[in-house]
Amino acid sequence: MSLYPLFADLTDRAVLVVGGGDVAARKILALLDAGAQVTVGAPQLNPALERLRDDGRIVHRAGTFEPHWLDRVWLVIAATANVHVNRRIADAAGERRLFANVVDDAELCSFHVPAVIERKPLVLAISSGGAAPMLARWLRARLETRLDHTLGALASLLADWRGTIRARQPDLAARRRFYQRLLDGRVWQWLRRGDRAGAERELLRTLDAAPTSAPAGSVTLVGAGPGDPGLLTLHGLRALQAADVILHDRLVSAEVLALARRDATRIEVGKQAGGPHTTQDEIHALMLAHARNGAHVVRLKGGDPFVFGRGGEELEFLRAHDVPYAVVPGITAALACAAYAGIPLTHREHAQSVRFVTAHCRESLDTLDWRALAAERQTLVFYMGVAQLATLRAQLIAHGRDAGTPFALVENGSRAEQRVVSGTLGELDALALQHRAQSPALLIVGEVAALAEPLAWFGIPPLGATPLAQAA
Ligand code: SAH
Repeated sequence: MSLYPLFADLTDRAVLVVGGGDVAARKILALLDAGAQVTVGAPQLNPALERLRDDGRIVHRAGTFEPHWLDRVWLVIAATANVHVNRRIADAAGERRLFANVVDDAELCSFHVPAVIERKPLVLAISSGGAAPMLARWLRARLETRLDHTLGALASLLADWRGTIRARQPDLAARRRFYQRLLDGRVWQWLRRGDRAGAERELLRTLDAAPTSAPAGSVTLVGAGPGDPGLLTLHGLRALQAADVILHDRLVSAEVLALARRDATRIEVGKQAGGPHTTQDEIHALMLAHARNGAHVVRLKGGDPFVFGRGGEELEFLRAHDVPYAVVPGITAALACAAYAGIPLTHREHAQSVRFVTAHCRESLDTLDWRALAAERQTLVFYMGVAQLATLRAQLIAHGRDAGTPFALVENGSRAEQRVVSGTLGELDALALQHRAQSPALLIVGEVAALAEPLAWFGIPPLGATPLAQAA
């Protein structure tokens, strides 16, 4: 079916909906939202519609459909459960040259109601011409997550400034270039903060900029989460889709990278002990060079950029070099590994605080306050600790933590290959060795770690002292 798309202005116009159930109620709410004057024809109304009638927001016509109900209405929607009644409505509407929609019956419809995405005043409508409404809905859901929630605010801003923009850039080609620069720029960031004045200043700045001036580049630090692409935030996804250049850590999963714009330049800047290595200075230089070249750079980091991710240093550098930046947080390994291993980090009975600790190297361990770390009723989460497990075990016990305190070592948390090794602190390094635990792995120490066994839900069950160890 070939349809002509149109958006109807129903403000203060009479619309008839026949049917008093849930389906009718959904249509009616959308019509009211558009400012229509809605009359509902039905023997009875459901409670939600009764409330609308009592509030004076709709008029109820009790009874079964009669063609004269169509007098003076602009549109009609048939939402009854009765095929014959629906057909009578469609026929009567056709005779009067009125557009009619019959819910879930494409053949009887003379207009379709599309699946919509609203960023008012912007509205996107999707139709499959009745061929595959579920497909249209699926597409709507996909697009919904991709489209920035500030699109509506942006549309309002552009509406208010349209005249000025037109006067200042009378030439169409120049005006197009202005819009391109504006939309590729930072105006979004002001709107996301709800700062309309800032957005207006950005608009004026862009309007004043010489048309030949290079577009301003920027850097967005994005937290990619621990691996499962479902743990990326919507802002993270949008930044990846808008990126020209992506500088990513080795830890970032292939599934997350696959969500980025296809033609974005991807550069791995992994820091791998013993392997190929990009220094922090080189990373800074790459960010700067690409941003100065006008690119939208995404600096994509495992987990969260501000948790053991050197995000702070990178921002300091960008600030010192006047490169605009933004930060999108990510799910840090501690939160993801705990969730995917069934370990609540706090628990009313076991732990009132959590500490995130780096166990990167011997020097970093030497500076820790072990007495404080060994205190009871807290959960300890060690990042980068796989090579230091024996030291961690020895120091915690030496400073008073019970050797029987449960631990869980979560390897490849949230990924398909996730493994959890669990036991008690005294046997930490022995068990890790037995199961050949490898980086990336996160160590959780505290009473809550005992819940890894009963609350496990993801991947294979926790590995403990296996028969191999018992036999020995
Ligand atoms: N910024 C990151 C941490 C970087 S440090 C974040 O917020 O998660 C790197 C350490 O994080 C690894 O050595 C490991 O301890 C931990 N880690 C990161 N991803 C992990 C994962 N999927 N499973 C287990 N540990 C992980």
